[in-house]
Amino acid sequence: MHPLARWKLRGVKPYIPGKPIEELARELNLKGEIYKLASNENPLGPSPMAVKAMEDALGEMNLYPDDMSYYLVKKLSKKIGVSPAEIILGNGSVEIMLMIALAFVNPGESIVASDQSFIMYRIVGNIIGAVMIEPPLKDGKIDLEAILLSIRPDTKVIFISNPNNPTGTALFKEEVENFMKKVPEDVIVVWDEAYYEYMQGKNFKETVSYVKRGWNCVILRTFSKIYGLAGLRLGYGIAPKEIIDTLMRVRLPFNINRMAQIAAYHALDDEEHVRKSVGLVETEKKYLYHEFTKLGLKYLPTYTNFIFVDLGRDAAPAYEYLLKNGVIVRPLKNYNFPNALRITIGTHQQNVKLIELLNKFLKNTESGY
Ligand SMILES: *Cc1c(COP(=O)(O)O)cnc(C)c1O
Repeated sequence: MHPLARWKLRGVKPYIPGKPIEELARELNLKGEIYKLASNENPLGPSPMAVKAMEDALGEMNLYPDDMSYYLVKKLSKKIGVSPAEIILGNGSVEIMLMIALAFVNPGESIVASDQSFIMYRIVGNIIGAVMIEPPLKDGKIDLEAILLSIRPDTKVIFISNPNNPTGTALFKEEVENFMKKVPEDVIVVWDEAYYEYMQGKNFKETVSYVKRGWNCVILRTFSKIYGLAGLRLGYGIAPKEIIDTLMRVRLPFNINRMAQIAAYHALDDEEHVRKSVGLVETEKKYLYHEFTKLGLKYLPTYTNFIFVDLGRDAAPAYEYLLKNGVIVRPLKNYNFPNALRITIGTHQQNVKLIELLNKFLKNTESGY
């Protein structure tokens, strides 16, 4: 690092994303199709309605976007049942995570987040020079008791991924309610609900009710997962007006590009696309559970569109084998799960290929590695 860098930046390790398809194609000179099951993208693609609207808008890209994203915010506010003043958009929900840390946490104050949860919480904490307090998971699940015990007088923000990435486990209604009653009023709880649409009808607490009551919390959701718009970078936060006003002070102008506003606006109308996407995950989840069990692989039941698979031994060779054969999954060594892979639920064809390869790999390495 440059010697003039802010000294706190020494603790910042860059985020490691899933390997892009283009990169693997370049490295391996692969001819056939490459399947990316590494970043929980929607294998059905974006909503066709959004695609059509984007095609129609191509000629307007000389114009700056509407800085307030008026129409998209209005549509979201109606759908969610809060006022437009209770919504903020970000260049991906990760941008809002950084805004929260920048706006609320003084250097040296603390942030609480589980140690095997979405790594961006640690990264934004480290960027702004916060102290990270990171209690462990309990049986792959976020331990709300441990989080409560970790809160200190200088704690400003708690980040909770529900369901949790990378384990796919969820916190249910009663647990969330008990927890929220016990959190001190002067701490902001961030509920990162990137997989919200996959959780419906599953005894899930509608955390938006806390926003309506004016509690100190931010709900984060995204267009990257079920809406299939990860490439456009668009997430949103729902919070009481005073919190949104504060976040607006650290937001850069035009953080939401014109194409993203158009695509998201139309994607929200496409209920069929959402329904199909949920249906695919429900069906394919069962197929994969069944096949993993046949292969003798342990997994955690998931409330998302990805599955945490425990190989019971170093997962790196399996990851490399899949990669060599054109299937990208996510190794979890940097999440301190060296034996596990996080696998996005793909189309049936993709999942069949994954299982075929895992089967071959396990047969080849039966003698152990
Ligand atoms: C994928 C994901 C996000 C989404 O990030 P974007 O910046 O909106 O693409 C946020 N949180 C978690 C836990 C995720 O898994």
